[in-house]
Amino acid sequence: MTFDSDTTEAHERRITRCKSCRARIVWLTTEAGKKIPVDADTVEADDEIYEHGRHVSHFGTCPQASSWRKPR
Ligand SMILES: [Zn+2]
Repeated sequence: MTFDSDTTEAHERRITRCKSCRARIVWLTTEAGKKIPVDADTVEADDEIYEHGRHVSHFGTCPQASSWRKPR
């Protein structure tokens, strides 16, 4: 069994599944202190803060986003 640098066990533990589409996501914190779901493939093992342009918010890619995004 081998591990490569960006799929460490700690990283794998942070990955969860979107309840709507079952995509692999990681929760990151924005600079404003909000937690948002980010597509796991765009997250490095030690990322904690969401970086626009590098991370891809799952709000934008989830095919079911409209069903779980809270209306204002
Ligand atoms: Zn989803």
